[in-house]
Amino acid sequence: MIFERCAELGMRLTRQRRAVLQVLGDANDHPTIETIQSRAQEHDPSVSIATVYRILQFLCRHNLALKHDFGSLSTRYELNRWDHHHLVDVETGQIVEFASDSLDRAVRAVAGEFGYDLVDYRFDLFGRSKKPLADHA
Ligand SMILES: [Zn+2]
Repeated sequence: MIFERCAELGMRLTRQRRAVLQVLGDANDHPTIETIQSRAQEHDPSVSIATVYRILQFLCRHNLALKHDFGSLSTRYELNRWDHHHLVDVETGQIVEFASDSLDRAVRAVAGEFGYDLVDYRFDLFGRSKKPLADHA
């Protein structure tokens, strides 16, 4: 799917670019640019950090990927596959994705109070687990 979209948008799908897109498609975490490069190098050792950076810029420009700054964590990326928010564990750096109808309703109401129709929003929550550290998976 991501390969087709990129081709439609005029990206020439070189082996290196395919490797990066494959890594992003397979990722279910929110990898850093360095992690994306090292995973892509397992498919093609010639993938450079510049290549990864350019692909991420391309994807973000076309709203196919999202760039996140989660506080003290380094910049993270993910494909833009579904509307969701993030809960970041400030101790472990673990990132949990969630969606919430009640949150959507509340935010829509706030926008309405200011005379706006809500177009988009994202929340990044930062929390500390109530479970002891040893219980983290
Ligand atoms: Zn996410």
